[in-house]
Amino acid sequence: MLSRRSRKAKKKAKRHKKIKFSVVLGVVAALIIYGAWGVSAPAPSKSEAPKKAQVSRSAPVLAPATLEITIYNQVTSQTLPGIPISIGRVFLTTDSSGSAQADGLTEGEVDITVRAQGYGVHEENLVLESGDNTAAIRLESSTETSVFEIGSFERKAYLTIDDGPSRRWTPKVLDILAREKVPATFFLIGRRAALQPDLVRRIYLDGHEVGNHTYSHDYRELYGGSSRNLFYSLSRNSEMLAGILGFSPNIWRPPGGVTGNFRAGWQSRVAAAGYVTVLWNVSTGDGSTQTTSSQMVENSITYLDRLGPKEQAIILMHDVRAPITVALPKIISEIRKRGFQFAVLEDKTRITGLVRGP
Ligand SMILES: [Zn+2]
Repeated sequence: MLSRRSRKAKKKAKRHKKIKFSVVLGVVAALIIYGAWGVSAPAPSKSEAPKKAQVSRSAPVLAPATLEITIYNQVTSQTLPGIPISIGRVFLTTDSSGSAQADGLTEGEVDITVRAQGYGVHEENLVLESGDNTAAIRLESSTETSVFEIGSFERKAYLTIDDGPSRRWTPKVLDILAREKVPATFFLIGRRAALQPDLVRRIYLDGHEVGNHTYSHDYRELYGGSSRNLFYSLSRNSEMLAGILGFSPNIWRPPGGVTGNFRAGWQSRVAAAGYVTVLWNVSTGDGSTQTTSSQMVENSITYLDRLGPKEQAIILMHDVRAPITVALPKIISEIRKRGFQFAVLEDKTRITGLVRGP
């Protein structure tokens, strides 16, 4: 476990060293193009409030910049070779590892054009700056010819279990997952993790992934004031989880989702601080104390059957009440029946922008 994590951490550190500017291109939650300016800027720290972009516009600096783009399939994590990209007058094609690098760019506006088979031509105008920059660009698939033809397609299902750890229910959920041999992603609340550090370790050692669900989970505290409060709760939980596990996850889920909670600019500030927001598209509805286990199964079926034939499923449930212990094996069976492979969410999965459940 430790070696797996330290390898991952090393890989992450290496990537961050190169990354200054990232471009994320999503294709109907299928393709992500992830780019980086290869200039030495510090990696965004999760435990800090977001920094303002350190840009001095009054004195134009013609420092050469390097742009590195890697294109990969979000679902299979497979990188995509042979994708033509043009950046201004520089023409590139991704190499066998799905990467392309443009050297000697200068600060200012650049036009980036990407031609990925099945997704038409995507053009974007970006401003290169010397500070931390992040831009998100969404691509729409124009045809059924999809990027999955390049990689092997597996339809993934991500069980996500929020609000724990709970001394009473989490061990039961972990037993079910072990019996079913299914991995899940647990979005943990810091003040609960503080009380149950052994349970946090068991979640991770059992092979599951953990995510940040803020320290307090208190809506009024998180969303009632400035975004500082949200960042405080996020970084406090990061520190709590790092103290227990030796790392803090980049993935996080906003309590209650984003809609109606976030104000303008919050989403980009959270992303700029290095957090990857994970929402959901299948809600079991068990956020409500009224929901029974059979309703959880019915809700799951309803949402699963609304997904497109190649869409991945992110299932939302909670391990702080009894119904999950009855519903979970049945929900797993319904997911299996539909041909999904179970997987955990990780930093590189970078899934955002799904629906708010009932
Ligand atoms: Zn929650």
